[in-house]
Amino acid sequence: MTEVAITYHEDFGARGFSVLKERIRPSFEKLMQSGLVDGGRVQVFRPKPAPMALVEICHTAAHMMNMKDDPYRQVAMLSAGSVMMAAEMVARGEARRAFAYTGTAGHHASRGSCWGFCYFNDVAITIRRLREMGLQRFLIVDVDPHFGDGTRDFFGEDPDVFHINMHSGKDEVHDPKKNNYDIGLSFGAKDERFLSALKSALDLARDFDFQMAFVIFGHDSHQDDYGGFDLSFEAYPKMARMILDAVGEKGLVYVLSGGSCIHVAERVIPDVIAVLAGRGRA
Ligand SMILES: [Zn+2]
Repeated sequence: MTEVAITYHEDFGARGFSVLKERIRPSFEKLMQSGLVDGGRVQVFRPKPAPMALVEICHTAAHMMNMKDDPYRQVAMLSAGSVMMAAEMVARGEARRAFAYTGTAGHHASRGSCWGFCYFNDVAITIRRLREMGLQRFLIVDVDPHFGDGTRDFFGEDPDVFHINMHSGKDEVHDPKKNNYDIGLSFGAKDERFLSALKSALDLARDFDFQMAFVIFGHDSHQDDYGGFDLSFEAYPKMARMILDAVGEKGLVYVLSGGSCIHVAERVIPDVIAVLAGRGRA
């Protein structure tokens, strides 16, 4: 079995959303130079677009109509397909863990609308597919500093999805009935604050029985990047180790989200994949 499946398509760098795309190819090249991808334990796979019929079930007809002529529609379908392929491989036992590259993000895509470099909700579409395969309960850990409002629109009322949602707002809100936990880490949160909040959120979710976990991985949380946190490079392998410890032997899929800095992506993406492959330094 592959230890870590990486789903990647060159269109993410060539045709991805303008703010997000420049980091894609350099970070993938750094990953390939790192020696982590050995064609055995860690392998790269090429995704196809998500099936249109599945995307149409997840989003409203009005949203699909609005997206019809959008220039990013195709790469958004391919991004959803990347997440879906990664998760399907894990669900089928072909890979233990996965990292899905994307060219557009997904967590601001609601059923009927979208904003913030998001078009279709890649994780929601994937969960729909996994439920067709018989999986039911999921943990979503959104560490992108922007509030995952689209994901909440899909799963806010669904207690079978535990949604940990870290963001650069103020409030901390836990709904134990619906399994939603929002953690506002005031603007400029540094490593220690971020990691201790993540730890307490994962502890809170410890008794939630899930079959697969998704990490919505926005490195716009880095101090050099555009999001509201102020994390250093050291935070990322620590974060990845903490999440891996919490998920244990269950399925784990990272989904690339926000972030535009090339030098940040070049370092943090290989760093978290190293942890997934059992070779992390943290
Ligand atoms: Zn973000």
